[in-house]
Amino acid sequence: MGADTGLTAHETQKSLEIRLRQREAEIKMLREISDVIGGTYSLQKVFELVADRARHLIDAETVTIPIITPDQSTYTYRAAVGEHAEELIDVTLPLEIGVCGWVFRHRKPWWRGMLDQLDEHERNRWEKEAGTLILVPLVGKRQFLGGIAGINKKDRREFDRRDLDLLTLFASQVSIAIENAMIFEELAEAKQYAEAFRERLEETNQRLLQTNEELQHLALHDPLTRLPNRTLVTDRLHQGLLAAKRNEQPLALIMIDLDHFKEINDTLGHTIGDMLLISVGKRFQQVLREQDTLGRLGGDEFAVVLPQADRNDAIVVAQKLQAALEKPVTIEHNRFSIGASMGIALYPEHGSDPSGLLKGADVAMYVAKRNRDEYAFYNVEHDKYNPDRLELLRDLRIAIHKQHIGLAFQPKLDIRNGCISAIEALARWEHSDKGRIPPYDFIPTLEQTGLIKPFTLYILEQAVTQCKSWQDQGFDISVAVNLSMHNLRDIKLAPHILEILRRYDFPASKLTLEITESAIMNDPEYSLGVLAQLDNMGIQLSVDDFGTGYSSLSYLKRLPVKQLKIDRSFVTDMMQDQDNAMIVHSTIDLAHNLGLRTVAEGVESADVLDALQRMGCDIAQGYMISRPLPPEELLNFLHSCRWPTPRIQADRQGEAKAPGSC
Ligand code: C2E
Ligand code: CA
Ligand code: CA
Repeated sequence: MGADTGLTAHETQKSLEIRLRQREAEIKMLREISDVIGGTYSLQKVFELVADRARHLIDAETVTIPIITPDQSTYTYRAAVGEHAEELIDVTLPLEIGVCGWVFRHRKPWWRGMLDQLDEHERNRWEKEAGTLILVPLVGKRQFLGGIAGINKKDRREFDRRDLDLLTLFASQVSIAIENAMIFEELAEAKQYAEAFRERLEETNQRLLQTNEELQHLALHDPLTRLPNRTLVTDRLHQGLLAAKRNEQPLALIMIDLDHFKEINDTLGHTIGDMLLISVGKRFQQVLREQDTLGRLGGDEFAVVLPQADRNDAIVVAQKLQAALEKPVTIEHNRFSIGASMGIALYPEHGSDPSGLLKGADVAMYVAKRNRDEYAFYNVEHDKYNPDRLELLRDLRIAIHKQHIGLAFQPKLDIRNGCISAIEALARWEHSDKGRIPPYDFIPTLEQTGLIKPFTLYILEQAVTQCKSWQDQGFDISVAVNLSMHNLRDIKLAPHILEILRRYDFPASKLTLEITESAIMNDPEYSLGVLAQLDNMGIQLSVDDFGTGYSSLSYLKRLPVKQLKIDRSFVTDMMQDQDNAMIVHSTIDLAHNLGLRTVAEGVESADVLDALQRMGCDIAQGYMISRPLPPEELLNFLHSCRWPTPRIQADRQGEAKAPGSC
């Protein structure tokens, strides 16, 4: 071989040794490169390293790394080192352009030696374009990645086969590292994307949860007071009962109804009414424990669920709730003294399911209101006061139609002269199945349905007829009939009354109409009109239940009323309750200053009657004098009671005279 090439054996050996060492150095370098590259996962770093090492390996002026883009239609120079490198970095070109596309299509390396395999036309084209280029493909395990390209060998030399082999070997070594780094980058990107997606999802989720919570809050809370609504109260009651049964503990439910709230609302407007409800809710909340649930059931009705509370605990809480209302509530410079009636139902005594307890507390509340007590416990006896409304209405219609509603008459004592001077007519309904139904239980139903108008005229007619018959027997007595709020809205009321008075030849001056303070104050301007009409007819007007509503003194002065009836809640216990005694006393003074007579109702004892007399009260009415009596018993009472009744003189002329002190 030496002879053929003209070299000596020594020279040949030397040349081989040099090539061997060169080879070893190249292999060492390759290994080093793969180690370095294999240890890095930053794709950009890998590209830069590969370009740099390749340039040294093949001694190129410039080395670029064209990488096929994912859609395989273009390639991008992801790295470039050497001359003009900056111009090339990140340039993206279509695959059809340049030698890169050729390599990609043919899946083999390009170097000058390829020109020999091309036909003449192609050879001419590529010689010009890529004669100084060497480009080997980078093929990963999964796909064709791109290539490593050397542009111009240094010192105007040409890339040779050795360069091609070296670069090919190098490409095969680094391609896996590049692919790994690419996958890693893809993964990182995907991870980042997934992370961003997760964050967005989380955000959306959070928003959804929030909206859900808001929706749930809205569905379960009263928007005005922000207290639990009926649904939530019922649910808490349900949960409370489950726990109570499990732990064999008691539970109490208190239902609260504000007194005269409707009047405030109607007279002063909903805004004030709303603010009042909010304030009252807050006051209640302040006296409750954390485990208690205060809710608003609607209107002016609140409820409190008291887990683990027995009868005594319930009383303590009811008293605390009442005490919370002791101080007047101030809203926009108006001060309101708010009262409340509470009904209490207990587990297990009064029921074991939410609806049973709710109903029980409701009935008890009704009873408390009726009796003007601060609170009442449920009692089976009460059930008869809780007739189904519709059924009640049907029965009422029949009762009115068939004139089954009767009257009781309660005498009034004129304290000044010691005579029975008047009687109040009170409606009495004896239900065929349910027994006696008190007026408090059916009058509101009549008011709601408009039946109150014919009902009032019916009572009035009965009262006038009865009273007339007693007058015919010589008793100089007047009769009082109660009007309801809706009667005051009836423009035909006065003419109808006039017609009845005429029909029975009954003097208007002997008829008193009692109208509750709250009914008048419900629409004072309008009331004034109707009251003036009645007054002009000569009828006496009396303000009933005085002290329980919100009379404004200015109205009171303008009203054509002759009497104030002090509510029995102040009168009955005035001997025990100093405050009430004072209220009664000042009401009497106030009335007298306004030129009005006073009637004290609910007089149950002689002590009270004496005290009233000392205070200058004009008239007394109550069980102490007589209970309301059926008409046939009243005559008997007038004849036999210890107080005389003025007699009408036989010729019905001149002054009424009684045989006794009248
Ligand atoms: P009211 O007009 O204040 O009638 C007085 C009520 O007090 C009556 O109850 C009477 O029985 C009761 N009472 C009388 N003396 C005493 C006493 O010493 N102590 C106690 N604790 N109570 C006494 P009643 O008959 O149940 O009537 C209740 C309410 O129903 C009446 O209150 C009145 O507002 C209304 N009412 C009764 N009849 C009629 C009617 O024909 N028309 C209208 N619109 N309302 C009526
Ligand atoms: Ca009355
Ligand atoms: Ca009254």
